[in-house]
Amino acid sequence: LAKSHVLSREEFSFLLDNIGEEDSYLYEKAREAALANYGNKIYVRGLMEFTNYCKNDCFYCGIRKSNRNANRYRLTKEQILSCCEMGYALGFRTFVLQGGEDGSFTDDRLTDIISSIRTRWSDCAITLSIGERSYESYKQLYDAGANRFLLRHETYDDTHYGKLHPPALSAARRKQCLFDLKKIGYQVGTGFMVGSPYQTFENLADDMLFLKELNPQMVGIGPFIPHHDTPFADQKAGSADLTLFLLGLIRLLLPKVLLPATTALGTIDSDGREKGILAGANVIMPNLSPPQVREKYLLYDSKLCTGDEAAESLRSLKQRIQNIGYEITVSRGDSLNI
Ligand code: SAH
Repeated sequence: LAKSHVLSREEFSFLLDNIGEEDSYLYEKAREAALANYGNKIYVRGLMEFTNYCKNDCFYCGIRKSNRNANRYRLTKEQILSCCEMGYALGFRTFVLQGGEDGSFTDDRLTDIISSIRTRWSDCAITLSIGERSYESYKQLYDAGANRFLLRHETYDDTHYGKLHPPALSAARRKQCLFDLKKIGYQVGTGFMVGSPYQTFENLADDMLFLKELNPQMVGIGPFIPHHDTPFADQKAGSADLTLFLLGLIRLLLPKVLLPATTALGTIDSDGREKGILAGANVIMPNLSPPQVREKYLLYDSKLCTGDEAAESLRSLKQRIQNIGYEITVSRGDSLNI
């Protein structure tokens, strides 16, 4: 894998079934690949969770439409711009706007917000993570100044997709969105949850092959973590070990890809971010949302949003990263995987 950057479905399934055998060798190779492409630099992105209204009803997600207990909020344009201002001062050069699929953020409203950010912080990358929209909508937002888009495919397999989502959503539509985004010119991030209910090693092998096919600029993976007000409340969480193993494999599959050590990984293991970096990750996305809304963007239970997960604590995060021999950098951090 380290040499050819590809394996068959059977080979991936076999490796995943035999995790623990050669782990440290995998991580060594993955770190080598990250170092060869990105050096010891870790890129940071300021994550703004600007709305937790959502029209979808994904079975795993805490902000799903049917969750009556979710305390809903939306940020105003002014609040979003002041997050950017604070983030810029802290050294962030990428702003990520993430939210549920909230119809009140129309194309025109988002265009206004994006073009305001684009004008005031012209040296920054603007990343959207706002779910499925039409080709025309994606195009309009791109033309307004958005550069990147994060849309996890969640799982490649149609049947498995159907066990995680209501019938209105489909794996085919999700993938179509990803190809649309690429065609328009966005730098695209995709990914999936590790250990989501009913997931098999074959599903994960298919996810790996899909990553190879799409060849995205970024791949976000994190363990599934149950949320108490969802149909998956009683399901088992995904494991940190399997997540780390997959991070290592993805680094070798797509050596130049941007690979975040995600909040979910930091949530199930307090050293998750460091372990992620030592398994080949090179991006961290601290939370830049206004503190009073952070607890409301609860995708899963116990989601980290304070401490070193908070953008204000960048200094202490820097220290932790230095302790393992890496360095946080102030830059847009564009992907080398083009
Ligand atoms: N509405 C946007 C943003 C979704 S939230 C979109 O559709 O892309 C970002 C990611 O959080 C999701 O893609 C999903 O993979 C992850 N997520 C949601 N619920 C989760 C849970 N219970 N455990 C772990 N990750 C979860």
